[in-house]
Amino acid sequence: MAASHHPIPQPVLRFAPSPNGWLHLGHALSALENATLAARLDGRLLLRMEDIDPIRCRPEFETAILEDLDWLGIAYERPVRRQSEHMAAYGAALARLEAMGLVYPSFESRSELKAAVAMRVATSGEPWPMDPDGAPLYPGMAKSLTAAERTARIAANAPYAWRLDMAAATARLGAPLSWSEVDAHGLPVRDVTANPARWGDVIVARKDVPTSYHLSVVVDDAVQGITHVVRGEDLFEATSVHRLLQELLGLPRPLYRHHRLLLGSDGRKLSKNDGATGLRELREQGLTAADVHRRLDL
Ligand code: GLU
Repeated sequence: MAASHHPIPQPVLRFAPSPNGWLHLGHALSALENATLAARLDGRLLLRMEDIDPIRCRPEFETAILEDLDWLGIAYERPVRRQSEHMAAYGAALARLEAMGLVYPSFESRSELKAAVAMRVATSGEPWPMDPDGAPLYPGMAKSLTAAERTARIAANAPYAWRLDMAAATARLGAPLSWSEVDAHGLPVRDVTANPARWGDVIVARKDVPTSYHLSVVVDDAVQGITHVVRGEDLFEATSVHRLLQELLGLPRPLYRHHRLLLGSDGRKLSKNDGATGLRELREQGLTAADVHRRLDL
């Protein structure tokens, strides 16, 4: 019988660049990893502009991304989702976390945070723990403010970020968190135990924008029905935070594939300022999509 009573839902993937610079070969690899897996699974490929940062994101970078994808021969569905147009959705997610008592406002400046960490190191003589990105864990001062102190500071227009109370958030979980990592054919490779506590009280809404990378990405992956998140290994550790937010917000759990990163000649991950691998430069030099595939060993 051809028809099934429980058809397998069509896979949905996304390429989610930030239009805050020109794309390089590393982005081409990520876009092609997504396009290839979508094709293998007979799935859909969506494009999402992660443009929550109004200062760094610019329309000319977005235009260039569309040109680069055309040049690479990558077809994606329209419309393109722009995160800057969905702040209300992120606000609603934040409000849910607030209603659960899992977030708190944090008023410190960067220099106050640095000073607080330096003071703790000086007092204890111990190194201060770092998050997986190498930033010091939040020392937790604002968590102990009273409700009255918070209200007073907010009334005085003090800028603040919202932080996730990691201890409270993980304490709410019924079962250990994990995700399933898949290979280039979408087949499960291993279950990974998530460890969001390594991030400490992460920021879920920034001082300057009422969301964060972590919050917008989990909301959007759910809204867009993403079944397979394919992205670079540099975001492997962030997946722990994403799994936690998905659980707290009752969002579905996608499969994940964290692909290899391209390294520059200095052995470090490519950056958007790395002219030598910029897709526009390569295009202007007359390279074709096939040349890019070769350079990426695809
Ligand atoms: N916007 C992120 C970046 O450009 C990717 C986010 C994701 O794939 O989850 O690094």
